[in-house]
Amino acid sequence: MRRATLTALSLALTLALSSCSPAPAPQTDTVFAMDTVMELTVYGDEELLGEAQALIADTEARLSVTREDSEISKLNKTGSGTLSGGTAALLSRALEICALTEGALDITVYPAVRAWGFTTGEYRVPGEDELSALLKKIDYAAVKLAGDTATLPEGVLVDLGSVAKGRLGDDLAAFLTENGVTSALLNLGGNVRTVGAKPDGSPWRVGVRDPFGESYLGILEVRDVSVVTSGGYERYFEEGGEVYWHILDPATARPAKSGLVSATVVGADGTLCDGLSTAVFVMGLDRAVELWKAMTGFDLVLVTEGGEVYITDGLEGSFTLSGDYKTKELQVVRRG
Ligand code: ADP
Ligand code: MG
Repeated sequence: MRRATLTALSLALTLALSSCSPAPAPQTDTVFAMDTVMELTVYGDEELLGEAQALIADTEARLSVTREDSEISKLNKTGSGTLSGGTAALLSRALEICALTEGALDITVYPAVRAWGFTTGEYRVPGEDELSALLKKIDYAAVKLAGDTATLPEGVLVDLGSVAKGRLGDDLAAFLTENGVTSALLNLGGNVRTVGAKPDGSPWRVGVRDPFGESYLGILEVRDVSVVTSGGYERYFEEGGEVYWHILDPATARPAKSGLVSATVVGADGTLCDGLSTAVFVMGLDRAVELWKAMTGFDLVLVTEGGEVYITDGLEGSFTLSGDYKTKELQVVRRG
């Protein structure tokens, strides 16, 4: 009897203590980098945010295609360059993803991106002759990487913008994890990296944007993954009643019209997810599903121009439609 009372008392005390001890306060920061707004939420020491900022600045300084003194700009200017280990590794990984997607991702599409005005905001529709000249310069297979030394043929330019934020998310997550962080949410602008779960142990909730509106299409409940979306609504212009967006089909040097308006890739490898989100947007539903069936390590949320929503079966139970989409039927793609 006495023993039971004591146990009950100590249990009550433990509960009282644990409800008094404050949950670790989140450290938050907003950073403008890599042409986007980044929101960092980290449960851990404040100093970590300063170091995370330094990592972001270093990534941008190495990879930016518009900063004249970046490693990539120097490579583009001279046609050859010895890269730092991190940049060479990312270039190598990006070339693998280009091959994996049969060129739907092509890191040499940059001259075309520039010709359409997506780098400066001075938008224009290039003429047929200009487009066929640009097409001749798009060929990721022409990029040579031997050790840390890269070489480009005349007129070929490299842009790692389609994978850079994914890699940054991986690097930030690794840095935070090494420093004991078990809970963080890094929103790198359409590119979300989760570390662990929320401090209470429940999964992070990541919204997938509605490509037709300002709100969310659905919510993903996830831990320890990247969630990367490529959408036609991110950067675009209209001319003569046509909409032209910033993701180009390397086979045509024109904005990709694959029937998809948004492609989200979820997986542990953020670099792969980032590269694939761009590629899948170019590939369209059928080719994307084929690629998914041939591989492991990622899942997809795809939205067609008709407003249909497809998920691959690994997301069953972790993705729910929200808002106007609640009444829609979710199409689940299976491997069988
Ligand atoms: P964002 O970086 O805007 O979030 P993405 O990761 O989809 O979106 O990358 C798109 C950027 O990559 C474009 O702004 C352009 O610079 C470049 N790009 C466009 N089309 C392709 C493509 N097919 N392959 C590789 N890079 C591309
Ligand atoms: Mg991408």
